[in-house]
Amino acid sequence: MSVQTVVRLPEKYRPVVDHELCLRCKKCVRACSYEVLEFKDDRIRPKPGCVACLRCVYECPAQCITVKEMEPQFAHHAVFDPVLRRSIIAQSNSGGVLLSSCGANVEYMDIFSHLLLDAAQVTNPSIDPLREPVETRTYLGRRPGKVTVTDDGRIDLQSSSTPLVVMDMPIMIGHISLGSISYNAQAALFQAASELNIVAGTGEGGLHADFYKHSKNLCAEVASGRFGVTSHYLKEVSSVEIKIGQGAKPGHGGHLPGEKVQELVSQTRMIPLGTDALSPYPHHDIYSIEDLQQLISVLKESTEYQVPVGVKIAAVHNVGAIASGIVRAGADFITVDGLRGGTGSAPRVIRDHAGMPIEIAISAVDQRLQEEGLRDKVTLCASGSIRSAADMIKCIALGADVVGVCTAAMIAMGCTVCQQCHRGMCTWGIATQRQDLVGRLQTPVAAQRVVNLFRAWNEELKEMLGAMGIDSVESLVGNRDRLRYIGPNPRIAEILGVKHSGEGWG
Ligand code: SF4
Ligand code: SF4
Ligand code: SF4
Repeated sequence: MSVQTVVRLPEKYRPVVDHELCLRCKKCVRACSYEVLEFKDDRIRPKPGCVACLRCVYECPAQCITVKEMEPQFAHHAVFDPVLRRSIIAQSNSGGVLLSSCGANVEYMDIFSHLLLDAAQVTNPSIDPLREPVETRTYLGRRPGKVTVTDDGRIDLQSSSTPLVVMDMPIMIGHISLGSISYNAQAALFQAASELNIVAGTGEGGLHADFYKHSKNLCAEVASGRFGVTSHYLKEVSSVEIKIGQGAKPGHGGHLPGEKVQELVSQTRMIPLGTDALSPYPHHDIYSIEDLQQLISVLKESTEYQVPVGVKIAAVHNVGAIASGIVRAGADFITVDGLRGGTGSAPRVIRDHAGMPIEIAISAVDQRLQEEGLRDKVTLCASGSIRSAADMIKCIALGADVVGVCTAAMIAMGCTVCQQCHRGMCTWGIATQRQDLVGRLQTPVAAQRVVNLFRAWNEELKEMLGAMGIDSVESLVGNRDRLRYIGPNPRIAEILGVKHSGEGWG
């Protein structure tokens, strides 16, 4: 006798249709890849399973669908909240690890929102960016060892060992692999990076032949699985990054489920069709800083010292010391990825409970490298939930040269942060390989929206720099005196090296 062990979870979201206005066109039924909506007895009828992706709302010509968040169905309990009880029930059903996507979904303190920027008044006049130049050009790579001024007043850069990548704004689009997102979505991100003259990460899945035209604006990721990594690929791109860790899942490898490994992905990653792409947790050839040094040297040699080579790490408790070792190992740039950084798939327990917020991590790294006289040698990139120009500006003042952005770029393309990327059924055609869904994302439209977003952020950066009386973004890097803390825990301000609101300069 079989025993039923699966218990139905209460609904979280429910689509509600105004049947008076409904045209019975069934567009919503076709829109929902989660098969929540059906047309029966002359009505749209919802079934359980809505994830609030909002695609049906967008498709409905009569604007007669709304998605309602259901009241928690559980009795109140102060300790076992509904989220915990849902998780326990889901695991008792499946016996497995709970997966999710996007960034951490726990309300840890958002430190960016407790930092205020300074503004110029009287003795340090502001700059009007409409009338005076405000420079946001940014360089990625190892810094020149020394700047000297020649007798005739020219600046003479004692050249570094690698060329620098020049970007028109201090923004990189983070690594999002083909496989975790669709061909159309990756095409849009790469097109946007080319148009903005910034850099986008390829993710760990190699580079599709069609995307080589964008290679001068791409950073190749070398992760532990080495999927799709060839010397031709490495030589074509503008920069190479070794991925040691990712903020959303520190200490964890990558996992692309077999159903997402369709022909296109299988060819690009150079793995068999339909097989799970699992990259190991550690790089099996890196167990020390010396091993890392060796891989950096190998990558520099295989790219004939023509591109900067960086290292990406997740923000963890000892991040300052780790970054110091990475600079000593010869990295030209370091990306520190914070706790709230996005992912296409991660065990929820790691996503929500391991790591460190980017505000603290980038500040710790910047301070440690300064103390050791290493800060000028590398470009520091900070990523992990940079949600707005304000976050970007504060992050730069905490020590970042560049910020990496993923989720905001995805939202610009249509993502509603429904956290279902790992299921591969994205109704917006972004985190999916299903051909019927991929076509929903129009590459030129998505690319233009990403371009618009980052142009707007760059304008806001100029406005803020001008208001602070700063004419170049480089002068804001690590300039903590232009930040003040206004949150509940002054100890955080101490760790950030930021004064409390009300404390003056000097
Ligand atoms: S399309 Fe999205 S929002 Fe609409 S019913 Fe389906 S899952 Fe819910
Ligand atoms: S898309 Fe809107 S109008 Fe069309 S059937 Fe669905 S609810 Fe009705
Ligand atoms: S990419 Fe798609 S599945 Fe992933 S969070 Fe965004 S809308 Fe949801």
